Amino acid sequence: MERKTKIIATIGPATASEAAIEELIEAGMNVARLNFSHGDSEVHRRVYGWVREASDRMRRPVAVMQDIQGPKLRVGTFPDGEVTLEAGSTVMLRPGEGEGTADEVYVHYLKDVDLAPGAPILLADGLIHLTVEEVGETGVRATIREGGVLGSRKGVAFPGSSMDIPPITEKDRSDLELGKELGVDMVAASFVSSGAHIEEVRSLIAPGVCIVAKIESALAYRNLDDILASADAVMVARGDLGIDVSFDTMPRIQKDIIARTNAYGRISITATEMLESMTSAPRATRAEVTDVANAVLDGTDAVMLSAETAIGSYPDRAVRTMSRICIEAEKSPDYGRPPEAEFLEDISRFASAIAQSAVAAADSLGLRAVVAFTESGSTARLLSKYRPRARVYGFTPNMGAYNRMAIYSGVTPMMLERVSSTDDMILASETTLLERQILEEGEGAVIVAGVPPNQEASTNLMKLHVLGEAATGMPH
Ligand code: PEP
Repeated sequence: MERKTKIIATIGPATASEAAIEELIEAGMNVARLNFSHGDSEVHRRVYGWVREASDRMRRPVAVMQDIQGPKLRVGTFPDGEVTLEAGSTVMLRPGEGEGTADEVYVHYLKDVDLAPGAPILLADGLIHLTVEEVGETGVRATIREGGVLGSRKGVAFPGSSMDIPPITEKDRSDLELGKELGVDMVAASFVSSGAHIEEVRSLIAPGVCIVAKIESALAYRNLDDILASADAVMVARGDLGIDVSFDTMPRIQKDIIARTNAYGRISITATEMLESMTSAPRATRAEVTDVANAVLDGTDAVMLSAETAIGSYPDRAVRTMSRICIEAEKSPDYGRPPEAEFLEDISRFASAIAQSAVAAADSLGLRAVVAFTESGSTARLLSKYRPRARVYGFTPNMGAYNRMAIYSGVTPMMLERVSSTDDMILASETTLLERQILEEGEGAVIVAGVPPNQEASTNLMKLHVLGEAATGMPH
């Protein structure tokens, strides 16, 4: 059985080589994530080239996702790289990026956070808990409730406090320039919290590139509807989100984000610590296996590996494990219930109606394939969002769409030379599907296309087709 849920693997020191990337693709990676919080531009440039070359050589579509760092709130540095904060004592927080001590810790963007006495502050991924005592002109005095070791440049969270932080840093701007030059397919935007933030990112990237809004704060979650109206995809970024919201609410929030993202026709991604123990062990825990399966049953389009493939000892094994778990979960009767929406998209109601009808026809006729001709990939995305039992084959003459379709659940991207008539497109796709032994002569498929062909957003045609019929023009 072919897996529908797509796998995103983060490339890092453990996998930044031609051979390792080939192994990840062989194991089932559909999207390579380049994490711009780490690594210099030369490394990203090389990794980008290796992914493209391997994908071409292996004839396996792989999308490249550039994950920009965003305005992550961090503490400054310490002379010895770390300090110990003792529970019960107080600490002064100063705005800026300077070098601090155990008594005085610098916090980037502190001035942009609206803090009041009693507000909680979390340091080092939630390990250290502070409570604000006093907010002054030159800094914030806080009591250490739970202490611990605080390393240089560790993360800071202000759960429940509002803040006004620019969504894109100078570093992000220059990283986005590089992404544009390279030709990445997707940009994951960190710490965005509104639709306006997404639009700002969009103004800096190439047309057609898919924007993934990383939901990693309580504020972003509260603004999910506004974000969905602008973003192409949403990531449940459980690492940072799990610090900003109370831990025990995470499962409910994950389910809610995935359900609302799917109902909006956007791509849903579940990320972070999915197979964490495989960073250092060859086997996942029962809890991790169940977590991946549950994300699939929640309806996620894609699942993501971070440390497991970036710095782990078993990167390709982690991808294989994830792949097997997804395939098993997809066999569940609870998998693949389409979202409850009559038409998924307001802006392309014809395309939505055609996609919905095509899926209903394929399901009721028990067909194995829905064939979509698509310029931008959006028809394949719509078909996918109605969760057909059949596989979707997205044929496109456009390399960008071919790559982007790699993340769409249940979609196999296919390249097609541009032809001028719908009949020729059908004939060409039929030849490919038969040659690659994906379908057999005489077998039925649903075809979705736009007439006239070769135009974006023109999906208006659905054909019930028998393979072999295109050559003779005659139904069997
Ligand atoms: C996360 O916080 O879960 C996440 C995916 O972001 P990053 O890995 O960039 O911290």
